[in-house]
Amino acid sequence: MARKFDIPQFYRSGVVTALKHTRNALDQRKQDLNPTEIPCGRITFKIARHLGFCFGVENAIDIAYRAVRENPGKRVFLLSEMIHNPHVNSDLQARGVQFLRSTSGEQLIPFEQLTPQDIVIVPAFGTTVDLFATLRERGIDPQQYNATCPFVEKVWKRASQLGNAGFTVIIHGKHFHEETKATFSHAELSAPSVIIRDMREAEKLARYISKQASGEEFFEEFSGKCSHGFDPARHLAKIGVVNQTTMLATETQAIAEYLRSVMRETYGAEALTEHFADTRDTLCYATYENQEAVGSLVRSGGDLALVVGGYNSSNTFHLARICAGKLPTFYVKDADEILDLTQVRHLNLETHDVEISKDWFPVQLERVTVLITAGASCPDALVEAVIRKVALIAGVEPVELEQASERYIRTAEGTAPAP
Ligand code: SF4
Repeated sequence: MARKFDIPQFYRSGVVTALKHTRNALDQRKQDLNPTEIPCGRITFKIARHLGFCFGVENAIDIAYRAVRENPGKRVFLLSEMIHNPHVNSDLQARGVQFLRSTSGEQLIPFEQLTPQDIVIVPAFGTTVDLFATLRERGIDPQQYNATCPFVEKVWKRASQLGNAGFTVIIHGKHFHEETKATFSHAELSAPSVIIRDMREAEKLARYISKQASGEEFFEEFSGKCSHGFDPARHLAKIGVVNQTTMLATETQAIAEYLRSVMRETYGAEALTEHFADTRDTLCYATYENQEAVGSLVRSGGDLALVVGGYNSSNTFHLARICAGKLPTFYVKDADEILDLTQVRHLNLETHDVEISKDWFPVQLERVTVLITAGASCPDALVEAVIRKVALIAGVEPVELEQASERYIRTAEGTAPAP
């Protein structure tokens, strides 16, 4: 049975959470990726089969709120943002939780100010070996409220196994992202490690694997992204690929497959397993599910897509990119970004700037189909608020949304009265 987490009720949603529960109960093996269709008024909302909070985020929220509850009168800190959602972070701050560092690594409160009486929560994406050590030096047990996602820890464990077996760890991720920094630091304890951002960097790496390039050039290309003492002439003979769990899973798979083919060409098919480790089991299931569900969502067709999540959320960004490849897409952090039927504030996927777009909603259409999905750190309540805002400005009565969702649930459960 799926583990249950204690999540504050205000993150749940009467509509979205209820629909998710119904879909999960009726499709426990998660074989149906079709979106949930809720027609109300002139709008049909198609809600991705998998969206919003993942296992790791629910686990982290459970731990963070417990840390606050269990320690009245004590100072409670987070190493950095809990998850990449501004609403969740602000709510924790409003309860007195203080951030030691910003997402970009800027020190907000010096570690020297920590005392053994303080509580420090390690966020969902984990932290570096050095920071774990710093906390211990300050007399703080980092395991007490360690919210590192078990799937991130699984990547660290696999990296360590790879290193012990003589493999180099290739990390597909963004070198400035907290999770990638953490994974890199844990990996380099036992293995030479290098971070690559995308297929372009995989192709650069391949030149060193196949000995088409060598020497100083490597350190220009991978400066700050490889472990101390990395020797491209020796350390690229046996490799395994792991990822920052929120990267596009299909991109990680494509990179792994590409590097596998480079190894096959370089060392021959018979020797492939000696030179390339199979690490497919380290891909995060939640990232994969949300990305697969979004693929199904866009294939089902619609007039526009709304993708809800914090603007610094890597996995939300990837969901938005998938949608934007097929139809007009607006990446919004919450319902306040939907200004009216003519204007929406959203993250531009190319420039990464927040901007206002005009005429985003096809008012000329009699019926409009709006696709909805959300990142793994986005509460269902925010998704519902976005749906309600769109319904409201399009002239749909609020009660119609509840009725449509209840109708869907009754029909799905086979209890709808015969027409
Ligand atoms: S996306 Fe995956 S690895 Fe990241 S927190 Fe969620 S479950 Fe864990």
